[in-house]
Amino acid sequence: MTKIRDQARRWAEANWDPEMTVAQWWECLFEARYCLPSLPENAFGRGYSRQEENESRRGLRDVGTLGPAVGISTMMAAPTIAAHGTAEQIERFIPPMLTGRHTWCQLFSEPGAGSDLAGLQTSAVRDGDVWTINGQKVWTSLAEGTDYGMLIARSDRDKPKHAGITWFAFPMRQSGVEIRPLVEMTGQAFFNEVFMDDAVVDHDAVIGDVNNGWRVANTTLTYERASLAGAGITLPFAGAGRDSADLEKPAGSFGYFSYQARNSDPTEAKKLPTAVWYHRISTDLGLDTAARLDSRMRLYICEEVNRMLGLRARGGTVPAIGNLGKLAMSKIARMRREAGNQSIGAAGMLAGGDANAGPGKGAIQRMTLHSPAPAIYGGTDQVQRNIIGERFLGLPKEPAPPPDTPFRDLPAN
Ligand SMILES: Cc1cc2nc3c(=O)[nH]c(=O)nc-3n(C[C@H](O)[C@H](O)[C@H](O)COP(=O)(O)OP(=O)(O)OC[C@H]3O[C@@H](n4cnc5c(N)ncnc54)[C@H](O)[C@@H]3O)c2cc1C
Repeated sequence: MTKIRDQARRWAEANWDPEMTVAQWWECLFEARYCLPSLPENAFGRGYSRQEENESRRGLRDVGTLGPAVGISTMMAAPTIAAHGTAEQIERFIPPMLTGRHTWCQLFSEPGAGSDLAGLQTSAVRDGDVWTINGQKVWTSLAEGTDYGMLIARSDRDKPKHAGITWFAFPMRQSGVEIRPLVEMTGQAFFNEVFMDDAVVDHDAVIGDVNNGWRVANTTLTYERASLAGAGITLPFAGAGRDSADLEKPAGSFGYFSYQARNSDPTEAKKLPTAVWYHRISTDLGLDTAARLDSRMRLYICEEVNRMLGLRARGGTVPAIGNLGKLAMSKIARMRREAGNQSIGAAGMLAGGDANAGPGKGAIQRMTLHSPAPAIYGGTDQVQRNIIGERFLGLPKEPAPPPDTPFRDLPAN
């Protein structure tokens, strides 16, 4: 492991220049295959395991470089296309993601198809080399300004539910696509509704064969869960995307992207363990009691155990580890909320400008409002438990119509 870290560190020492633009630095990382080294070698990676990828990122962090372009594209779309795309598709779609020129969103959930994702109704109809898409997606994170969507749509209603779905690399910037932001209780519009009205996608953007989309989507979901389970190495962050102003800024001008980084003194933002950060705030406020310390210690231990679990998640060595890690992450979000609010005491009731002026600069209050989300996105806690029970423990499945029932004969959600 240390060899990989040393190698990355030496490479970074020789190549890092904080005066480079973000776009130039990401090109440089791309040429050296340090953007997403866990991708296979034939897909612009180094074929590293998850642990090895983290080691290489530690090497970059040792030198204090900006991190690679990160987002839904690199977290889910790139590994999915690497696994199921043709050589031409890998060549076409992956480099712009790794160099931060294109961003992607995930067009999976629909108003009637969230947990029951395979019940999706959005239709894909082929005419020659072009597919026409009609339907609605919802809860699409960061859809605005993206270049492509990972779209799953119903391509054959006569086939059984899971067999008539196709996965498309779907161009978002077209007249048949309307994006409407949804404001959440945090006050931000992180996710959106996406309406597709006679939108089009070329046949050569089908990833992994027509009607094979459920298999491809499961790859996407596996990477999503493994990533959401945490354990990545944090590096300074710049925004990717064609419209992003960050691309032309000096690469050395960015800090860490975390609640701490966005909301507190940047010198303190070097991704402290959350419990340690809470402890500092609480000590400054004179709020320490045994009970408060206890909740911080529990949080610290759970975060450490989950970090170690997450390191194994992409290695594929332990069944269900992605699902277990995702479940742990939603529990940790609730623990952070409890321990965080204990650490700031009555200030937890403040909002907006009052919160920003108080301890933690509003970060704990914002995190509190966001805390229900991890138990929902990427598959709810209940769905993770169903998967663990049915697929890994061999428990009986929920009653359902015979598996060969054509989709058109199933009751719609
Ligand atoms: C912050 C956030 C970001 C998101 N981003 C995206 C995105 O970018 N792209 C995207 O496609 N989607 C996204 N989602 C949507 C997310 O994947 C869905 O919300 C999730 O899959 C649940 O679906 P649903 O909301 O339709 O709830 P439902 O499926 O209607 O579930 C409602 C409740 O019933 C329970 N339930 C349902 N079925 C079962 C069952 N069989 N057994 C036991 N309990 C069950 C659920 O656990 C839940 O508690 C996001 C969600 C959030 C909160």
